[in-house]
Formats: sequence, C-alpha cells, structure tokens
Amino acid sequence: MRITAINERTVNLKSSIANAVVNFSTHTVSLVAVVSDQIRDGKPVVGLAFNSIGRFAQGGILRERLIPRLLQVDPSSLLNKQEDGFDADAVVRTGMCNEKPGGHGDRAGAMAALELAIWDLNAKLAGEPAYIHIARHLSLEPPQKGVRVYAAGGYYYPGHSVSQLRAELMNYRDSGYHSYKIKIGGASLADDMRRVETAIDVAEKPNAVAVDANGRFDLQTAKDYGAALSDYDLSWFEEPCDPLDFTLMSDLSSDYQGPLATGENLFSAVDTKNLTQFAGLRPDRDILQMDPGLSYGLTEYLQILQVAGEAGFKRSQCIPHGGHLINLHIVAALGLGGCEAYPGVFQPFGGFSPQCTLANGYIWPDDAPGFGLEQKQELAPIIASLTEI
Ligand code: MG
Repeated sequence: MRITAINERTVNLKSSIANAVVNFSTHTVSLVAVVSDQIRDGKPVVGLAFNSIGRFAQGGILRERLIPRLLQVDPSSLLNKQEDGFDADAVVRTGMCNEKPGGHGDRAGAMAALELAIWDLNAKLAGEPAYIHIARHLSLEPPQKGVRVYAAGGYYYPGHSVSQLRAELMNYRDSGYHSYKIKIGGASLADDMRRVETAIDVAEKPNAVAVDANGRFDLQTAKDYGAALSDYDLSWFEEPCDPLDFTLMSDLSSDYQGPLATGENLFSAVDTKNLTQFAGLRPDRDILQMDPGLSYGLTEYLQILQVAGEAGFKRSQCIPHGGHLINLHIVAALGLGGCEAYPGVFQPFGGFSPQCTLANGYIWPDDAPGFGLEQKQELAPIIASLTEI
C-alpha cells in the first residue's frame, strides 16, 4: 500500500462578511487529496481534507516542502503496524522533517490538511465514518448521542442592523439550533450591547449566547466590555485580546467572572501548556477552542487535549473552532463539549452535509465513509476536479 499522488488546490471562500478584525471576502482554503493505490469500486481510495476556515491557503508550503517529503520517503515508512492504513504520526514526522520547532504560523494549517486527509483515507479504507474510525483507533467508546452544536453568526454585514441580526438568529433557531455566538468589537459598546440583548431575546436565555471579540481589545476595552457583559450570564466571552497576550488575559480573568474562551489561534500542545500556565484561565469554567485543522492535525490535537486535561480542563470544556464536517467528526469521536457551525456562510467548506441530522441543538454526523466531504453539494464538484486521475 502506498500514496501515489497528493493534489492540492486553493479554493476561494465565498463570503462578504467581517468580524471586528477580519474581512473574509479575500480568504482562501487549501483542499488536499491524498491518492492511494488501493482500489474500491474501480477507483483509487482518496483521503480529503482542508485547513479549516478563517485563514488562508498554503499552496506554497504544501507544494514546495510538505508534499515532496511525503512522496520521496520510503512508502512503507508511512504505513501503520498492521499495514492496513497510514500512520498519521509518521506522516506528520515526515512532513515536518527539517522544520524547526515553534513559530507555527501557516505551516500548522498546511500540515493539518495533509494529516486530516490521512484520517479520511484510513476511515475510507476501513469502510467506516471518521468519527467511528477515530474513536475505534483510540479505543474510545463510540458516541451515543448527537453532538451539541451552536450557530456562529452575527457577523458585521455591510449596512448591518439589529433587525438583520434578529432575522439571522431566528433563521438559525428555526433550523434547529438552540445556542448562538455573535461578534462584538466591530461597533460601539452601546451598539454591541443592543446586539447582545437581541441575541438573548431570540435565544430566550443568556447562557445560550456567546460573544467573540476576535482578539481586538486592549486591556481597558476588554474590561469595559467585561463590565457590560457581566450584566448577563453569557455562555462565554471569546478572544477578548490578542491570543498570545497571556498577561492581559490573566488580568481580565481576575476581573471578569463569567467564562472566557480562547485557543483558536494557538497551534500546538506547547502553546496550550503556556496558555494554561500563564493566562489565568480557570479550569472550572473557561473554554478551550484549539482547532485540529489549524494545529498540525488530529495527532497534535490529541496532545493538546492531554495538556489541557493535565491542567484540569475537562473534554466538555474543549469546543474546537471551525464549523465544518471534519471538526464535527472529531468532536463526536472524542466526546468534546460541542461543535461550532457556520450556517449558510463560508461556502463551500462551512456547515455540514444534507445527510447530517440537526435537531434540538444537537447534530449527528452521517455514516458515509470518512468525513463525508463528498456529500457536501458545494464541495463535490471541486473534489471531483481535484481527484480526477
Ligand atoms: Mg472566534
């Protein structure tokens, strides 16, 4: 068994929305296809994945560094012990050969796309959905119920209004979502509080609403927002400050008593170790949002969970950034606290396939082999063009 080709493509994210810091209209994603020599139904078995959502494609890193290393190595060195699939850990070690530690940046997403494609490939070789395959590989009990999911929206649209926000969240509610996250920091404090109150009104309870500042605030602004948000009982206050400013986060955590959330811009177990030691996070309430698709893949993410667990954080407090099929399967497999969703936005990668069931605030992945990316109608034609042999 061997990898015969690895194809990658930069795909534009369809989006005209913005948060407090980023306009997504120019964002791109790297979709990768790892082609094996194994044949099913007359076609090679292909592993597919991408580097989550919210950053940029990494075609140069993939083409010039990571993919050549995987194709030049002895093919048997990438196989698992049973030789019935590929060893994700060996794939990461090979892809990262001659790379210095630290300074993760876009490399972490490029490696993640390849590593996650290996999990998709292995699940397809085993003929099972990724959430079952991952749980079985890790000797975990298969999940018994759907995954708690929240609708991440409330972005700043051109000419945005509170009535538009209300309509958006009511649309999510009608679709089966029970909890929501909205952006803050892109308007005045007073306007943002009106947005928060609108979301609470739709949710009918404050602890079904989270807010996300996307790392925008300095300490005083974070404290001002924290003081205003303390009037509510929100599910969390996300990325109030620069994600690497652990001192500021620590200062805020002694001031704001509600749950804080962060981690989507930390890409390794060592980053997590520093966060849990120096950012003042509280294992009895705060939320960790590291995203496997931005963090070298599932192999590193399992180490992140290990570090988080040693610091006292339960898996129910780990809710990865990234509302898409790959993270849905990972959350289900690992029994994490929940999954993000981006209903209707960030196509063709955002959201789930029509075969996934959404009801009463929970979502259940479909039983298509792998992550089921081929079932996503917006993605299927792009996948087809990438996997044509
Ligand atoms: Mg966020």
